[in-house]
Amino acid sequence: MSVLFLTDERYLNHDPGSFHPESPRRLSAVRSGLRSAGLTDALVSMVPAPALEEDLHSVHDAGMVAALGKICDAAPAAVDADTYVSEGSLTAARLAAGAGLTAIEALQDSHGRLAAAFCAVRPPGHHASAFGSMGFCLFNNVAVAAARLRAGGERVLILDYDAHHGNGTQDIFYSCPDVLYVSMHQHPAYPGTGAVTETGAGAGRGATLNLPFPPGATGDVYLRAWDEVVLPVVERFTPTWLLISAGFDAHRADPLTSMGLSSGDFADLTAAAVKLVGPSKVVAFLEGGYDLEALALSSATCVAALAGEIRHPEASTSGGPGRAVLADAAAVHLAA
Ligand SMILES: [Zn+2]
Repeated sequence: MSVLFLTDERYLNHDPGSFHPESPRRLSAVRSGLRSAGLTDALVSMVPAPALEEDLHSVHDAGMVAALGKICDAAPAAVDADTYVSEGSLTAARLAAGAGLTAIEALQDSHGRLAAAFCAVRPPGHHASAFGSMGFCLFNNVAVAAARLRAGGERVLILDYDAHHGNGTQDIFYSCPDVLYVSMHQHPAYPGTGAVTETGAGAGRGATLNLPFPPGATGDVYLRAWDEVVLPVVERFTPTWLLISAGFDAHRADPLTSMGLSSGDFADLTAAAVKLVGPSKVVAFLEGGYDLEALALSSATCVAALAGEIRHPEASTSGGPGRAVLADAAAVHLAA
């Protein structure tokens, strides 16, 4: 089945500086990875519409959106110690936040003819909270899409396998019972959140599931966590849509983190996740991933898995640490 592929040349105009790891070359790597993997014919390309003010306000405080606009007016400028904006950043950020909305509408109109959508966007989004941009992220792209689906009565599973904890996404939906946030990330690592004991609040209690793996964790541990902890929680939640924060910086070659995954592991994880909902109910968003070759390979295995095909240009990995995290998470989430 075909996969909807959303990207836009204007994403290249977000330039955080020549030495910044979140570089425009990342999108070129994604596109060349898909071409090299022979996936171009499986893609239906589409250009996203920018998110409107009301879309941004569905997850971000109006003051935060206005403040970011002011910072961007003064570009080049810094949002925090590692988040920078250039002249084209605000347009790119609005298009990144809008990509999921365009994808959802196109998938709904396809009546099951499109398997899923992959949004090759930048800047990434999962660190952006209701009240601030941070960690290379301006607006929270996946959260804007989840809020739209939730407003339409859907139950949304967000799987975040970026190596960093998606603190922004977690915060935005922390009290929400209709959005299940599942994060598999490295600990310790930026931004420091994402402990097993962070499980949601109020009506959202139990709808946040964190798996903070130690450096070096491999694909077998991720898959075992999926089977033993994530699946029982997801089956109880009964999602109608799946959104994936598809960061590929848990790849063993990534220069920013110390995890042990290969591109084959991203195929396995993505394939396991898409089984949970029907066709045309899956949207993946590019988050991190800073080794260009690993990013090219991993985005291709992810897109292939979205299309229903499991590929292993690199073998799945095993033998790393992290089993103890499963027991901790099971004790918190699966105790009777
Ligand atoms: Zn990351």
